[in-house]
Amino acid sequence: TSLVRREVAGLPAYDPGADPGEVAALSGAARVIKLSNNESPFGASPAVAEAVRLRLAESVSRYPDPTGKRLAEAIGRSLTVPAGRVVLGNGSENILELVCQAVLGPGDLVTTQAPGFSLHEIFPRVMGARVEKVPVTAGFGFDAAAWGAALAAGPKLVFLANPCNPTGAILGVGELERVVAGTPKSALLVLDEAYREFARPDPEYPDGLAVLRGQDRPWIVLRTFSKAYGLAGLRVGFGVASDTALVEALDRVRTPYNVNQLAQDAAIAALGDHAHLAETVRRTGLEIARVADRLRDKGFRVAPSSANFLFIDTGHRADRVTRELHRTGIIVKAWREPGYENFIRASLSTPEDNDVFVRRLTEICAKGK
Ligand code: PMP
Repeated sequence: TSLVRREVAGLPAYDPGADPGEVAALSGAARVIKLSNNESPFGASPAVAEAVRLRLAESVSRYPDPTGKRLAEAIGRSLTVPAGRVVLGNGSENILELVCQAVLGPGDLVTTQAPGFSLHEIFPRVMGARVEKVPVTAGFGFDAAAWGAALAAGPKLVFLANPCNPTGAILGVGELERVVAGTPKSALLVLDEAYREFARPDPEYPDGLAVLRGQDRPWIVLRTFSKAYGLAGLRVGFGVASDTALVEALDRVRTPYNVNQLAQDAAIAALGDHAHLAETVRRTGLEIARVADRLRDKGFRVAPSSANFLFIDTGHRADRVTRELHRTGIIVKAWREPGYENFIRASLSTPEDNDVFVRRLTEICAKGK
């Protein structure tokens, strides 16, 4: 036991949700409906399969480009930022980890939101940092007063997700600007925009890059190909940083070949298919509104979501509800943070699968499980 650092021994493990194979065996369902990881039910652009096929036909016996130059340049062009301020990750979660390794030491303070994304807490704690989680308001919104007080305590690093996970709520431009203004200049502000593509049609949703671009302070905006682009299985995300020095610091802690060549090629192809992205966002938006309405009609309390998932108060113990759903072949996530024991987070799928989910959830909760 003394082999493992105290910080690590005391950590909660990341919860990826139930294993589809086990749920298939448990339920006997011919097809498991997986709503636990906020993936895209609409898949990736067809250009992705072609790019991967080409690379496989050519060769994968060489190491990938260690800095992902072509992809970084494609991202840089699409966002009008220099490629030298783009850092690539094996998923954007890899960049969360790099940021913590580069910036945090024992006792440093990290500020983030609750309920929130577990890795915003786990990675800082690995470094021995303390994490203060600012609760959302009763209506799942941004609590400006609480954030003001938390930021005044002098964090070294701030993790803010917009849209937020698990609620799906967004911060408006004024709220984001308040966080930016309140974060000490000596701290790194990390804006995690994993779900931004889904929120962009909302006129209230601010473009984080536009807000931070002119700011004379350290910041990094994180984005991913895992969600709206449908590439979760390939693991590729990226950060746009305030300056190249920050990217160089992350490069020093990064494993040299952290993004594999197929993922780099796939991301370039995905980035070029605007029509596929637009269609995914359009279909997701329609479904989110429809399913949230249906759930509310059935009496469930549902957080207002601008993302591709819903945070649902089931009115019953979420671990039991989740277990019952697993028995019917549906995988969702029971939330594990204090105060949210009755909440599940369910990702959107196709209309057919979503209807099955609503029906089963309603049946299970009516039984009073
Ligand atoms: N940030 C948030 C808020 C997320 O919900 C997720 C995925 N669950 C990630 C980052 C990481 O995603 P990925 O590593 O696939 O880019």
